[in-house]
Amino acid sequence: MTAVPVTRPTLSGMSTLPQDGSVRPITRWGEDVMHRVNQPVTDFGDDLQTLVADMVATMRAAEGVGLAANQVGVDLQLFVFDCPDKDGNHVQGVVCNPKLELPEGKDRNLDEGDEGCLSLPGAFTKCARPDYAKVTGVDQHNQPVTYEGNGLLARCLQHETDHTQGMVFGDRLSRKYRKRLFAEAEEFAPDYPSDWPVTPMVDHDHEETPAT
Ligand SMILES: [Zn+2]
Repeated sequence: MTAVPVTRPTLSGMSTLPQDGSVRPITRWGEDVMHRVNQPVTDFGDDLQTLVADMVATMRAAEGVGLAANQVGVDLQLFVFDCPDKDGNHVQGVVCNPKLELPEGKDRNLDEGDEGCLSLPGAFTKCARPDYAKVTGVDQHNQPVTYEGNGLLARCLQHETDHTQGMVFGDRLSRKYRKRLFAEAEEFAPDYPSDWPVTPMVDHDHEETPAT
């Protein structure tokens, strides 16, 4: 099979995400804000617009496909994403106060793909999750939004909603796989400056699945 051009949900070159943000350092696992249920977004003013723009800039600088507010140290239920689905369609958006819906019964199929997290950079492991997900919430202007899909997009929507609830994907792993994940993170730690991605990572040649 060969790839065919796909219809993108937005016109070419037109991003729905703000483009003028500043890169912020990414908060790592172990910081308290990563491991507690975050506060709902209630103020949709200028500070939120700046935060969203900065999160987009930070996600892009880190070459991630999704980023939650607590990953830049902010205690709010909010994430941004720009992620391909199984067919390579890129979907992007901003979701405040996300609510996740997953398939049940015979519609529930697990995808055992690799997963990584920008807050534990460099480490990846298999993490079983439903292969389809739907998220509802509001955007940064308090307008209702719904995103759903398969492939990496399904994984991303679940991973980011988990962040807003203080859960990291290590919490979903068996002890054995968690130990392996931390060992891999330790190995790549010297590549990531403490204020990464403000200071870029040290160049290396390992290739990986995009992290969220
Ligand atoms: Zn993450």
